[in-house]
Amino acid sequence: MIPYKPPKFREEAFNCPHCNVYADQTWEEVCCKPGSPFYAVMENLEMAVCRHCHNYTLWHFEKMIYPEDSGVQPPNPDLRDDIKGDYLEAKSIANKSPRGAAALLRLCIQKLCEQLGEKGKKLNDDIANLVKKGLPVQIQQALDIVRVVGNNAVHPGQIDIKDDRDAAMKLFELINLIADVGITQPKKVNELYESLPKSKLEAIQERDEGGLTSSNTG
Ligand SMILES: [Zn+2]
Repeated sequence: MIPYKPPKFREEAFNCPHCNVYADQTWEEVCCKPGSPFYAVMENLEMAVCRHCHNYTLWHFEKMIYPEDSGVQPPNPDLRDDIKGDYLEAKSIANKSPRGAAALLRLCIQKLCEQLGEKGKKLNDDIANLVKKGLPVQIQQALDIVRVVGNNAVHPGQIDIKDDRDAAMKLFELINLIADVGITQPKKVNELYESLPKSKLEAIQERDEGGLTSSNTG
């Protein structure tokens, strides 16, 4: 999974909110010409220019004010389209309404369980089923965190997370982590496997079928 570094004041490089690329940033003071022949530096206003797309971010008192961005990484491209839609909607409201974002992300998790072959109704049941099917332990743990953190967004005080925003941020991260381990990585391995020469694939198939026969008979 590609690490994501959200935009941060005076940071030399971060994932640009315009182009999403992890790129070097050039920091500049912002000047204006308020009715005099001289330029004046705007106090507490700075801009960072992305070396990749040349777009800028604007920072007022160390806080990014343009573009409006929640500092959330983009959704994993292998997520189903409707899940990506919910994720992006949650991303767009994460700063104003972290509780609303967390509710949408819970929905994403249910749908993600569906994409992983489960019913998507009860998270606890889905996790239990996925474990039976040999779910990697990282996903199981991630799903259990989601279950607990998600409940916490409704009933505070059960787990030590700073606030609603912190909880929402964890959910965004976990959804992409689950998608990466559960969907993207197996897909990549499968693509590599399929690219083996046909003769080798046939030999593997013969070996496996042979193994099956011998275990059946003996
Ligand atoms: Zn950029």
